[in-house]
Amino acid sequence: MRKWTTGIFTSIDEEGLGAGLDAVKELGVKTVHLHAPGAANRTLGRIREVRDEFAEAGIEITVVFVGFPEDDYTTPETVKSSVGLVPAQMRGERLKETLEIADYACELGVDAIGMHLGFVPPDPHASAFHEIVEATRIVCDHCAKSNQFFHLETGQETAEELAQFIQAVDRPNLAVNFDPANMILYGAGDPLEALETVGKYVRSVHCKDASYERKPGQHWAEDAPLGSGDVNMEAFLRALHKLGYEGALTIEREYSPDQAGDIQSALALLETMREEILG
Ligand code: MG
Repeated sequence: MRKWTTGIFTSIDEEGLGAGLDAVKELGVKTVHLHAPGAANRTLGRIREVRDEFAEAGIEITVVFVGFPEDDYTTPETVKSSVGLVPAQMRGERLKETLEIADYACELGVDAIGMHLGFVPPDPHASAFHEIVEATRIVCDHCAKSNQFFHLETGQETAEELAQFIQAVDRPNLAVNFDPANMILYGAGDPLEALETVGKYVRSVHCKDASYERKPGQHWAEDAPLGSGDVNMEAFLRALHKLGYEGALTIEREYSPDQAGDIQSALALLETMREEILG
């Protein structure tokens, strides 16, 4: 894979723009982050089909993302109570599914799974903190058996809290999927400063923008077209360059009346900046 290959976040068992292999082919991108499909689409037969289809199209899946049907992004409060491995009452079942998705990714030949872990308690002495550390170790140790990495999505906590958590888990295959827009949307600090703090753990990124100022009626989690928000994409890419990051640049565009158009503009913007920075 060439350095900083552009790509998009996609899924294979949902309808909609940006979803599915045909849309990915149409955009002409060569890498994707894939939302893990539901169990019905993780059968061996389906795995073989997906693997062959992507290989034939010359598209590399760089990270498989774990998500759960009950994840609720309606408000920051619902995120806190419903997302990832943090909600205690769902943790056991979700942990089991996470390991199954790691195996699914392995069968697809993908060496990383990613996840919004949820809001990790900031107090390292809290019992909930230790429980989540333990759950994360289980995922890491399972992934290590097949030389896979576990990427934590940024945003819910500050960079210092995230670094503290990663150090507490203490596993060499625990990494970060850095999403600069989430830092803005969750009020978790300046994205470029955060990148300095957790930069050494970054193995994948979401190229996503966001504005501090919400427009009237705009959903709290609604991002901005790439380059139009407050992230400063050029400074973000230059910082990644300085860190020696060579992985994919994966566009994530979740909410937009013109998702396809926005993704095309984002691809063009990233190619221009890539040329400027890498030469
Ligand atoms: Mg993201």
